[in-house]
Parts: sequence; structure tokens; C-alpha cells
Amino acid sequence: MVLNDLGKKISGALLKLSKDYSFDESLLNQVLKEISLALLQSDVNVKYVKQLSDNILEKFKMEEGSATNIKKLIQQCVVQELTMMLDSKKQPFSLKRGKPNIIMFVGLQGAGKTTICAKYANQWKKKGWRTSLICADTFRAGSFNQLYQLAMKIRIPFYGNITETDPVAIAKEGVKIFQKQNYEVIIIDTSGRHMQESELFDEMKQIYSAFCPSECIFVMDGSNGQACFNQAQAFKKAVDVGSVIITKLDGHSKGGGALSAVAATESPIIFLGTGEHIDDLETFKAESFVRRLLG
Ligand code: GDP
Repeated sequence: MVLNDLGKKISGALLKLSKDYSFDESLLNQVLKEISLALLQSDVNVKYVKQLSDNILEKFKMEEGSATNIKKLIQQCVVQELTMMLDSKKQPFSLKRGKPNIIMFVGLQGAGKTTICAKYANQWKKKGWRTSLICADTFRAGSFNQLYQLAMKIRIPFYGNITETDPVAIAKEGVKIFQKQNYEVIIIDTSGRHMQESELFDEMKQIYSAFCPSECIFVMDGSNGQACFNQAQAFKKAVDVGSVIITKLDGHSKGGGALSAVAATESPIIFLGTGEHIDDLETFKAESFVRRLLG
């Protein structure tokens, strides 16, 4: 189950408390059961689910609260719990000033990777870092032009080679050029992959091993459904994903799969992509993300 469904199920369970005036422990148990099931189906650790349920029951017994109070209490506990789960306990990579920080972007085709590369580059440039972009996507015909146009728009140096078919050679050449010119943030956009394309996964591994980048960022479409966990896990198995960016959160999607992405990669979410415009990039904050999700 993805977070969108989880949000709906939890809100649905809580609605029972608003509707029911004859509130008692058995109704609370029923509501907690529904919430626990929804959390378990979303891969939440059984230990945390039980803890959440026990905490609420204990507070209910102590406070003998009204349905409204208990509803608020459950909401607070669920927010706390989900916020904790979205915290991977791992610090995101922090870029080193004056060094060539090589950042590699990976993800499924169409996830919004190329767009995010430019947004990410732009935010470092705006903070005063010497930033550059490399297109090592030799698979999708339009990717060179797309990144080139974006780079021109934000005035960031760009390297790509439309006549070269080997992405590792392109990445090597680009990194060499930008390292020589003392660029501090060197961003490599790689080919988007489909899950079944083992060749493209191999190519991604080759680029990864050629540089051992400072950071490898997995880009995931926020509207992706059930497949999120497997997708994120496949990338994590192929390369050492260090952080995650979730895109396309400007549409109907409330962030499906965020929980799965964190669980599968054991890595923090660092940014959210919230539109096609270059400035549509938000720093990830777990609690506000969860509050939005639960409405
Ligand atoms: P890539 O194949 O992973 O490199 O994906 P692209 O960066 O080319 O993006 C695929 C499509 O999604 C393009 O049409 C982008 O304009 C669009 N896109 C990317 N990020 C976002 C976003 O945050 N919101 C919306 N609405 N569209 C996006």
C-alpha cells in the first residue's frame, strides 16, 4: 500500500470517532485495529504499530477522554509515528566546499530526473557554489537537448556529447573538464531505466564504479503506486543510493511511495519536486509532509 491509500484509510477510521457519540473502548479498539492494519500493509514495522496502539489505549484509560479528544490524540500519535518512519536515521550527504562533489542521479525513465538535475544544480548555484551539469543519458534521444536548454536557462556550464554512445566515456570527460576548472558540484544525469532493462542497470553500475560519486540520488515519481518499494530496492541493490528526491507532488498525488522509498533505500528524502518550473523544489520536512498526507 502506498501513503496515499494509508492516509485515506486512517482518515476513514478516524471518521468513525466523529460520527459515533456513544464512544467506548470497544469502538476505540475497532478504530485502532483498522489503523494498525493500514500501517502494517504499508510495511510499517509491527513493533511500532503495536507501540502506537498501546500508547493510545493507555492515554485513553488515563484521560477517559471524549471521542473528540481521543480522535485528536490518535491523529497526533499517527503523525508522530509516520514522521519517525520517514526519518531514515541517516544524515544526508553534506557537500564539501572547495572539492569536486560528484552527484549522480538515477531513476526510472520519466520520473523527472533531468528536470530535478537542473533544479538541484540551480539551488547550489544560488547558494554560491561552482556548479556544473553533465548529460550521460545516451538512451533517450531528447535528453541532451533538454538538459542543455535547462542549463542555458539557469546559466550553468554543461557538458554532453551527442556523437558519443558510451555514457561512461561522456561522464569521464565531463568530470575531467569540470574538475580541472575547480567546479564544486558536478552533477551527472544518467539514462532513465525501465525495471526490466538489465543492460541499463549494468550501464548505471559502470558509471557508478567509474567515479564512486560523492552522492547517488534516487529520483522517484511521487504518483507511483504499488511498485514503489520494489523499484527503490532494485536501484539500491545496483548502486549505493544515498538519498531520495520525490517528484511531481504538485498534482493529485500526496506523496505515494515516500515511505516505501525510505524503507527500501534506508536513505533520507532530501527534496520534493513540486512542478515543472525550475524553482519548484522544496526541502523535505517529514512532519509537514505527513500532515499534508493525512489532510
Ligand atoms: P526523466 O526521464 O526522469 O529525466 O524525466 P524528465 O525530467 O524528462 O521529466 C518527465 C516529464 O515530467 C517532463 O515532461 C517534465 O516536465 C515533467 N516533470 C518533471 N518534474 C515534474 C514535477 O515536479 N511536476 C510536474 N507536474 N511535472 C514534472
